[in-house]
Amino acid sequence: MEKTWIKYSYIFTIAFFILGLFNIIFAWIGFFCLIMPFAFVIKDNKRTWCQSYCPRSNLFTRLFSRIGLHLTAPKWLMRGTGKRIMLTYFSINFLMICLSTLMVFMDKRDPLEKIRFLMAFQLPWNMPNLLYIGVIPDWAVHLGFRVYSMMFTTTIIGLLLSGIYKARTWCAICPMGTLSSMALRKHNTLVANNLLANNKQ
Ligand code: SF4
Repeated sequence: MEKTWIKYSYIFTIAFFILGLFNIIFAWIGFFCLIMPFAFVIKDNKRTWCQSYCPRSNLFTRLFSRIGLHLTAPKWLMRGTGKRIMLTYFSINFLMICLSTLMVFMDKRDPLEKIRFLMAFQLPWNMPNLLYIGVIPDWAVHLGFRVYSMMFTTTIIGLLLSGIYKARTWCAICPMGTLSSMALRKHNTLVANNLLANNKQ
């Protein structure tokens, strides 16, 4: 099962985008990719998700390990600046998602039922919503569209970077990769501090 997932996890990414065309509520599956990097840091004390299981990096590797321009990525992208730009984008986007969903939940605004690229650029088509699965609360629909938009944006950027540079260039600036590295450092510091405290007793 584990080996099958590692080999075919790219299908998860493709399925995510296809299922969203059927009903946007399936975009909630995207939370899986937001949670799992941290779950593995806590479970394994290393970035197992990024090293083996991530469906997105699997997709990029599958698509672009043999094709693409394979240019050398600029230093600013790989060393810090790219990470900071994407982390800032992700933090603002995530905050906006939470606040706007809360406002829809409280009936203070209408749900935004459009896909946006980089939060600002609305795509000029509607999602087909091919599968009716009952009445879904507005806030849940809004959250689905926002998560889908975020995944859409990062996947498009990832695909472009993979096509121009190396297959996993996106991983150098991926906010989940950056945050899980920070979580791992914090986790290791806590473990080290606990060991030190135990040794002193
Ligand atoms: S850095 Fe991001 S895209 Fe790359 S493996 Fe980790 S979570 Fe996946």
